[in-house]
Amino acid sequence: LSQPLDTDYLSAFASATTADREHWQRARQFAQEVFPVINQHWENAFYPVDLVRRMGELDLLTDGLEIGGHAVFSPLAAGLVTMEISRADGSMAAAAAVQGGLVLRSLKLFGTAEQQDQYLEPIATGTLLGGFALTEPHHGSDSVSLETSARFDGKTWMLNGSKKWIGNGAAGGITIVWARDEGDGQIKGFIVDQQAAGYEATPVRGKGVLRAIEQAKIRLQNVRVPDSAFLAQARSFKDVSKALVDTRVNVGWSALGHALFVFEAALQYSKQREQFGKPLGAHQMVQERLAQMLAELTNMQLQCAAVASEQAAGRLRPAQASLLKYHNTRAARRVAATARDMLGGNGILLENHVIRHVGDIEALHTYEGTESIQALILGRDLTGLSAFG
Ligand code: FAD
Repeated sequence: LSQPLDTDYLSAFASATTADREHWQRARQFAQEVFPVINQHWENAFYPVDLVRRMGELDLLTDGLEIGGHAVFSPLAAGLVTMEISRADGSMAAAAAVQGGLVLRSLKLFGTAEQQDQYLEPIATGTLLGGFALTEPHHGSDSVSLETSARFDGKTWMLNGSKKWIGNGAAGGITIVWARDEGDGQIKGFIVDQQAAGYEATPVRGKGVLRAIEQAKIRLQNVRVPDSAFLAQARSFKDVSKALVDTRVNVGWSALGHALFVFEAALQYSKQREQFGKPLGAHQMVQERLAQMLAELTNMQLQCAAVASEQAAGRLRPAQASLLKYHNTRAARRVAATARDMLGGNGILLENHVIRHVGDIEALHTYEGTESIQALILGRDLTGLSAFG
């Protein structure tokens, strides 16, 4: 099952350039390193930080952002890298999505020159781990109503509140904390050192999915942040939302990577396993299920490729990113459920890898805005009427 077949029935990625393919190849190399060790980490709920650093060494953490001294990725190459990491493992893809997709992107979009000088390089190389803390225990989908507060006394900011589900939030590095300014009521961002007094983070335990990465619950009690750590270019929740558009695209590619793995696993299994005197793949119903999965997978690939073209042309609209996430995580769930069933009892054994992907897709389906939230964004775009709230 570890030998990828690279199903791409309609040549969705035929336009990948030589440079794109070089980046893609490095991600495949990383996937080969992850594959033999990941099940054990997943089973032990162990976060292999060395593998995050390895992604940094291979320059796989920048998520298509231009960072001085690092390779420039086209949107297609960035997507293919995400797909390939996810094809190996969702926890590692989630780590890359937080580190590059959310933290690096926030620093790039909203950070001052000094903040960028200090943090871009260590975050891009994975030598410093970063978290992005938007969600709170009582505000997930409506994070626009978040309650964590920021009070400015003219010199320093004081943060109070709590956060939940924050990838890398207890990893010992920095956290970009989103809080409501008590002055003007707007949401603002702060680079918080995880060693700061009053910052208390504990990993969320008991997860049934994404077990090889840690998300944290965070308590902020009178955490003092110097004004130099305030992300001055982020002025309101609208700015935060800008960072989430590209990360939704990243999730669409991740869903594709998971679906690709489970589809190919089911296909290979159907050729090896015999029942009723012939390979499962020789039974008509099994062939129909393979055809259904292929159709889903191909649609996912085509949407990814089309969105990459829109990004490359500089005209991606937030609703297009929502469409990709909405379509791909739903499709990936269907493909994964079918693949799992097609492996019979062996489908629930970790050693066959499929069940890990089945679970990890559930997290993708929820984070960066749930299925329903993407639908509401699309509904608003289509009708001009907001159904939020
Ligand atoms: P809720 O908002 O409580 O939603 C519960 C259900 O209600 C969902 O089905 C939802 O679609 C539905 N619902 C909500 N509102 C509506 C509505 N208006 N109409 C119809 N249905 C609605 N956050 C971060 O800030 N940083 C991170 O690094 C991070 N990493 C994460 C990693 C994992 C593994 C997970 C599970 C979450 C992570 N999150 C992170 C949080 C994530 O973004 C939220 O879980 C997500 O936005 C959903 O919020 P919620 O879990 O509070 O669900």
